[in-house]
Amino acid sequence: MALPPDRLDRFARHIVLPEIGGAGQAALAKAKVVLIGLGGIGSPALQYLAGAGVGTLVLVDDDTVDVTNLQRQTIYGEGSVGSSKAELAAVWAHQFDELLDARAVAKRITPENAADVIAGSDLVLDGCDNFATRLAVSDACVAARVPLLSAAVGRFQGQVGAFAGHLPEQPCYRCFVGDAFDADDCDTCAEDGVLGAMAGWTGTFAALQAIRVLLAPVGGLGDPQWGKLHLLDGLAPSLRTMTIAKDSACKGCA
Ligand SMILES: [Zn+2]
Repeated sequence: MALPPDRLDRFARHIVLPEIGGAGQAALAKAKVVLIGLGGIGSPALQYLAGAGVGTLVLVDDDTVDVTNLQRQTIYGEGSVGSSKAELAAVWAHQFDELLDARAVAKRITPENAADVIAGSDLVLDGCDNFATRLAVSDACVAARVPLLSAAVGRFQGQVGAFAGHLPEQPCYRCFVGDAFDADDCDTCAEDGVLGAMAGWTGTFAALQAIRVLLAPVGGLGDPQWGKLHLLDGLAPSLRTMTIAKDSACKGCA
C-alpha cells in the first residue's frame, strides 16, 4: 500500500529512517490504536501517535476537563474546562490531521463494555488513573488477543510496560499487579501530586513503545519487549527495566 505524495511529504522524517521507511509508515497509517484515558499520559501520547500518522484512534475517557488538569494535560486549554475530554481529544486530532480517523468514546471502561471498545484494534494504550479500569482493560485485551501498553505516573515516577498475555509465554498486566486492586478506584495524582513534565515523559515514552509494537510486524524497531516494565525516575534521573514473569495461576491469562 503506497502513501499519496502529500502524505510522503508529511512523514518524510519518518520515511528516511531505515527502521520505518515507506512500509513502516504505511503500517502506521493502517493501524488502529485505542487510547484509554486522555489525561496526563494520554494527551502527549495522542499528540505523538497522531503526529506519527497512526490512522485510526479511538479516544476513551468519561471525564471532563478540570482546571487542575491544565498543568499536565497538554491538549486542553482554559476554554476546555467542563467539556468532555474524549470529545475534545477527537476535535484536537481532526484539527491536527483531517485524514486521521479519530473517534470519541465518552464512557468509563468496565468489564462489561471493554470488549466492544477494543474490538478490532491493533494495540491498546492504557494511561488511565485507576486499577479497576486497568484490570478490566487487561482482561479484555487478553481475551481479544490485542497487545496492551500500560502506562502510569505519580510524583516523579513513571512506568510503561508492554503486555501480550494472550501469548503462551508472556505475562499480562494482571500477572504484574495481581487481583487485589479490582475494586480500587483511587486517583493517585490528586493525593500525591505529579510533575507535569514527568507525565509528558511517560506519555511520550508510551507513544514510542506503541510505535515499536505497531512496527514489529514489518521489522521496524525490533523486539516489542513483551513483559518488560520500564521505570522512569525523574528525580535521579534514570531509566530501569524489569522483567515481569507470567503467573501460572493468573485469572486473566493462565
Ligand atoms: Zn496474567
